[in-house]
Amino acid sequence: MKTQVADLTFELSIPYASIEKRVGEIAGQISSDYSGRIPVMVGILSGSFLFVADLVKQIETPIEVTFAKLASYYGGTSTTRKIRDDFDLTIDIKGRDIILVEDIVDTGNTMHYLIEKLKVREPASITVCSLLLKPDALERTIPELKYTGFEIANEFVVGYGLDYKELGRNLKGIFKKVE
Ligand code: 5GP
Repeated sequence: MKTQVADLTFELSIPYASIEKRVGEIAGQISSDYSGRIPVMVGILSGSFLFVADLVKQIETPIEVTFAKLASYYGGTSTTRKIRDDFDLTIDIKGRDIILVEDIVDTGNTMHYLIEKLKVREPASITVCSLLLKPDALERTIPELKYTGFEIANEFVVGYGLDYKELGRNLKGIFKKVE
């Protein structure tokens, strides 16, 4: 299935049914890993909004949910290396178990930056949950990355929250750019 987003053409890569199944598995894992604790899930906006929504619906233990804004892409299809620092997490996370939720880990620079920034606030623990991971693009290891939905090739994707020029977030599955 092909679809047009702004000036680019994309084709279906991961159908929604597969996402749903995998999200259910991750939710189960989180529920058992955090049993007896009340973690704080921090969704990184805007890309993670659908993933967080689907995930928390299936988590069976008490969990707090909040969002923070941070972005490194400026409407293009490759990483800019500049992280726009408008990270605005206002809650007190000292002594709390944090689960950072991202749409995608590409070079890993954003996640590394974010983790370092959060560590200063002395949380009890930080783990990362990313829907997608591009292993071939990773420039640094992220030991905190405990939950990954799907590993994908080094290709540009949209859909299920991820955008191209702010469009395509509403596509139900993950779509990859047609070369
Ligand atoms: P990193 O710092 O790991 O290189 O980049 C992470 C951020 O870049 C993600 O949160 C996401 O906003 C953006 N990004 C990386 N790869 C893609 C992609 O294939 N599609 C879209 N839409 N955004 C991406």
